[in-house]
Amino acid sequence: MSASGQGDEVEPSEPARCECGHDRDHFMVSPEPQYSGLDWFWVLFGITTVPREIQFRCRRCKVCFDRTQDERIMKRFV
Ligand SMILES: [Zn+2]
Repeated sequence: MSASGQGDEVEPSEPARCECGHDRDHFMVSPEPQYSGLDWFWVLFGITTVPREIQFRCRRCKVCFDRTQDERIMKRFV
């Protein structure tokens, strides 16, 4: 159970931030693409595919504080 960031999937107008104040565009925040089983198959062959979801994890506090399933946003990170 994480302290915050749980809840509905709607994109807030304010960007989500971890407790350090980093948002998804911060250099200390790593996008973690979440692939389904079949998508992993293509990734292994070096074929870029859009993941089903990207989670954003802060490398400082290790908290996954945001996620998106918006293809337009995900294409910026893959
Ligand atoms: Zn943080």
